[in-house]
Amino acid sequence: MLMRLQSKNKSSTSLDDLKSRLPLEANLMIKRSSTRNKWSNHLKGAASEARKNIRVYSLYRSAMATSRIEAWPGSYCDTKKSCCYPTTGKPPSDFGIHGLWPNYKDGSYPSNCDPNNSYDQSKISDLISRMQQDWATLACPSNSGSTFWSHEWDKHGTCSESVLDQHSYFRAALNLKSKIDLLQILQSAGINPDGGFYSLSSIKSTISNAIGYTPYIECNVDEDGNSQLYQIYVCVDSSGSNLIECPVFPRGKCGSSIEFPSF
Ligand code: 5GP
Repeated sequence: MLMRLQSKNKSSTSLDDLKSRLPLEANLMIKRSSTRNKWSNHLKGAASEARKNIRVYSLYRSAMATSRIEAWPGSYCDTKKSCCYPTTGKPPSDFGIHGLWPNYKDGSYPSNCDPNNSYDQSKISDLISRMQQDWATLACPSNSGSTFWSHEWDKHGTCSESVLDQHSYFRAALNLKSKIDLLQILQSAGINPDGGFYSLSSIKSTISNAIGYTPYIECNVDEDGNSQLYQIYVCVDSSGSNLIECPVFPRGKCGSSIEFPSF
């Protein structure tokens, strides 16, 4: 209202002149309106602040970290479901790669990001013998591993394809496995896959002392209902090569003392 009065009379009369000629009620209305404008500006400011925060949140959410998961084959097999060895033979008694999963920093993750870039084994033929050793499948029925690798690429790998193409994705996972020998780290602290029980805190601290970052330990349950060491998660940056502190950890529960079954 104040603005309308100003623009209508701008050429001949000043605003104060005009106000002085108005009845008291009209001036009160102008005052209320001006207070409302202040509030409206305040609200506009708050809205813009909120929009800014949403942008910051989206940036935060879209910034990627990558979880790298290794599984203990003994714990995959030692369940009610059991397991099948791959057609290429029993995998080594060592942690095997499960996958490299791009994650948002809030813990959620994208999946199946590009149906036009399906798994193509001819792009990684030079890596297959390493994959058979370090990324063996234990799912039934027995197969060579390509079903597992193709699932990992299609579901997870395609979501970081702008940084890691198929060859770089599988190579990054294999190189991390060579760089961080989780079994050796645990064994050098007397934590062996011998069917014994070890404290969860000693497993965690042994790994974090060795690699400098906190791992996440996932447990599953064996046929007798014992909590056992199943998977170990560490986080890497989006290039897939440098360890970082995990922005968040998955939810899950292990016992305070967990079994490390043999394989
Ligand atoms: P993800 O947890 O990566 O989203 O899904 C794993 C998928 O790969 C499941 O469908 C599972 O049946 C299949 N798979 C095939 N071989 C293996 C294996 O050795 N370990 C695990 N964890 N999953 C496997």
